[in-house]
Amino acid sequence: MAAKKILLVEDNPVNRRLAQFLLRSQGYEVREATTAQEAFDILKTERPDLIVMDIQLPGMDGLEATRKIKEQPSTADIPVVAVTSYAMKGDREKALAAGCAGYVTKPIDKDTFVREVALHVGNKQQGNE
Ligand code: MN
Repeated sequence: MAAKKILLVEDNPVNRRLAQFLLRSQGYEVREATTAQEAFDILKTERPDLIVMDIQLPGMDGLEATRKIKEQPSTADIPVVAVTSYAMKGDREKALAAGCAGYVTKPIDKDTFVREVALHVGNKQQGNE
């Protein structure tokens, strides 16, 4: 079976390296983007099984990027797992309202992160209506 492909959208190099390491250690193929725009460019030609989306990104933030992904019929069914450093009340709700399937907080806990990705990868989603 082909490896599941994950698109990792994260601007912070340290977090990106950690997330990429954890995902690769689980056998996933990882594509990296540092901005929402880079992610959209990749999505024009590639079809990941899941997107790991940092919420705090320069330019368009991860919530807005997720809304756009969910609005596009070609990408609406790709599950998005949000990663955020604001561990504030209401953020989980905001992420889910934007169309994210799952949510993890920074600093990334290895087991929680791996479990959340495994839970959603391959689960096609309906767009947020
Ligand atoms: Mn960030």
